[in-house]
Amino acid sequence: MSKVKSSETVKVVIRCRPLNRKEEAASAGVTRTPGGVGGIVEMDMRLGQVVLWNPHGPPGEPRKTFTFDSVYDPSSKQRDLYDETVRPLIDSVLDGFNGTIFAYGQTGTGKTYTMQGVWLEPERRGVIPNAFEHVFTQISRSSADRQYLVRASYLEIYREEIRDLLDPNMHAPHVPNVHTHTHRTLELRESPESGVYVRDLTSCVCKSVKEIQELMNLGNQVRSVGATDMNEHSSRSHTLFLITVECSLPGPDGRQHIRVGRLNLVDLAGSERQAKTGVHGERLKEAAKINLSLSALGNVISALADGRSGHVPYRDSKLTRLLQDSLGGNAKTVMVATLGPAPQHYEETLTTLRYANRAK
Ligand code: ADP
Ligand code: MG
Repeated sequence: MSKVKSSETVKVVIRCRPLNRKEEAASAGVTRTPGGVGGIVEMDMRLGQVVLWNPHGPPGEPRKTFTFDSVYDPSSKQRDLYDETVRPLIDSVLDGFNGTIFAYGQTGTGKTYTMQGVWLEPERRGVIPNAFEHVFTQISRSSADRQYLVRASYLEIYREEIRDLLDPNMHAPHVPNVHTHTHRTLELRESPESGVYVRDLTSCVCKSVKEIQELMNLGNQVRSVGATDMNEHSSRSHTLFLITVECSLPGPDGRQHIRVGRLNLVDLAGSERQAKTGVHGERLKEAAKINLSLSALGNVISALADGRSGHVPYRDSKLTRLLQDSLGGNAKTVMVATLGPAPQHYEETLTTLRYANRAK
């Protein structure tokens, strides 16, 4: 029997990036794998299907087929994903609901490309700039009796510790490679009025797309403090951009009412198996924490998608706890699982598809 599908609440989509030059060169002459130039992923965007071929299997080995809410093949544009999958969620945030967008996948498959893209090239702008554009356009068109206030916070979760990327103390000139203890660690709190929140998290009022973009740039500088290798750091931390849209509007009683919608934009840590043999000590602990928080997220989303909302295990990680009020209930969630078509990543790609399949 099929699951009770709550596509209203949780939407899972797959996006496959094109082969890069190196992969193309490596798979030249590989004729067994279909799906374009050496790729092992085939997609049917109309049916929402992904077919994965096992490049190591014996000839004729059955292919694995998965079905999702939507799938985006390597030729799909940023705009396609935004218009179909993201825009409805942003509209519901403007209406006062909460919404979360996750990018999940192995490092190098396009999470950051999907979430941020290239800000200066309209065609390649990702979810975040497109969402901001939409929010500010809608606000500028709204009726005069509505007053909006948009606030933004930017944080990361690294080794299960929360760091404020807009902390004004972090923006003073700093010595490169100072040890990471200069990052203050913030605590999660809960109150009846505000629900779960991060204590002392910086929140900045934004009046335009440009201001939000400046905040992101500022935060990205802070992220790299103490990171000897920025790529490695970004593959090991979850980055969360949190937007609050507050609207004051006249209610039926003629008085002004406040409506608040929250939008969480999450670029997750790389989903690749972190704990390889030969990893010890701190690195092994760190790896275990990443695996734990991604599986906790998978458990929460799968519980919500199943409609088992009585037993949603929010408390198992900082990430799920922080987003607790934006996952489930009236909130909408979109998970974009990213993958690459190269044969050498078959195992990781299969793992991503299974994770995504469980979440839907
Ligand atoms: P991740 O954040 O998952 O580690 P990135 O977003 O940094 O991966 O993407 C890795 C590389 O692939 C980047 O050079 C990026 O520009 C490119 N890329 C990712 N997705 C796409 C896509 N859909 N189309 C074109 N290039 C892409
Ligand atoms: Mg990235």
